[in-house]
Amino acid sequence: MKRKLFYADVYLQRDMTKVVNVAKDELEKWYVTLEETVFFPTGGGQPHDIGKINEVVVFDVEEIDGEIRHYIAEPLLEVGEAVEMEINWQRRFDFMQQHTGQHLLTASFVELYGIQTTSFHLGKELVTIDLDVKKVTDEQLLEVEKRANQIILENRPIETKWVNKEELATYPLRKKVAVEEDIRLVIIPDFDYNGCGGTHPSSTGQIGTLKILDTEMQKGHVRVHFVCGNRVLDQLHRKQKTLQEVTHLLSASEDGVVNSVKVLLDNGKKHEKTLDEAQQQLLNYEVKEIVGDMKEGTTSIERVFQQRSIQQLQKLARLIVTEATTSQLIFIAENDGLLQIVLARGTDNQTNMKQLIAQILPLINGKGGGSETFAQGGGATDQTGEQLLEKIHAF
Ligand SMILES: [Zn+2]
Repeated sequence: MKRKLFYADVYLQRDMTKVVNVAKDELEKWYVTLEETVFFPTGGGQPHDIGKINEVVVFDVEEIDGEIRHYIAEPLLEVGEAVEMEINWQRRFDFMQQHTGQHLLTASFVELYGIQTTSFHLGKELVTIDLDVKKVTDEQLLEVEKRANQIILENRPIETKWVNKEELATYPLRKKVAVEEDIRLVIIPDFDYNGCGGTHPSSTGQIGTLKILDTEMQKGHVRVHFVCGNRVLDQLHRKQKTLQEVTHLLSASEDGVVNSVKVLLDNGKKHEKTLDEAQQQLLNYEVKEIVGDMKEGTTSIERVFQQRSIQQLQKLARLIVTEATTSQLIFIAENDGLLQIVLARGTDNQTNMKQLIAQILPLINGKGGGSETFAQGGGATDQTGEQLLEKIHAF
């Protein structure tokens, strides 16, 4: 099978050929092979083409054992049939822009800083390369981006050559070529010489532009996120929309937006602190009120609350038994179909709270536990807090 068609110098979006075979693969999926193909199969970090053979949709293209398989949903093509192939050009051209942009970015890192690229990923939205370093500076990123865009602006030709091993030796290759024969060299004159089986436009200007978006640490390497061509415009649209919404929400200018967010966060922290203090004061009042309500000569405190967090009740209980050391208390909170219980005793009280909670929990099908001085638990039940208290009195 001839495969060089998808490397044609002109942008071959459609062409005629003949069906060689229609078959099912080991997963029972239908595919066809063709005499020649314009479809690029997954490889070299570049995703496969999609498109049509006659009117039959090709949703995947893979090279398996030297055979290029065009996957189709139904076997609607016949062996020997003359067919027209058509690839989804928008998708292909986007991949060509991103992939070739990666050549430029990688070569720029090598040229300016001797930094090598260890891997490349071309995703649906973002494109990344992993660099063989632990750190890059903002200045390095700016310079590399500038260099790549300069090569784009110069609109240098992108040439491809099939060479043998001897011819290969005469070129200043960026990295060692993995294959031994039928080596395809991709040349951006005086900039990048690289063995590559991917698809590229015929000149650097068609990449449009390259923008680095972000970096992150990934398994000890710096990962650089970038986009090329139309994706730059897509990103700009999205980021501009987000920025616009944020500036409107904050009534801030674009330059002032960072400061506005800082002020907002600072205010949030201040409010949180004020709220904490106010809650603490309220708890102190509540402690005084509950302790004040204790009848003389009694030690038992029982209360039912609505919609109180167990953390708050624990805090309140601790404050009370510290204040009233002879007391023992039962707090029950009714929280959305849950009964939550806090038991506590002061240092001058001998009631075993661990034992008490173990007696209470079966009444509400609940879970919990604690120590002899402090225990808690809860369960889902349709009983009210008061009903539970009555049952506890009957112990
Ligand atoms: Zn390439």
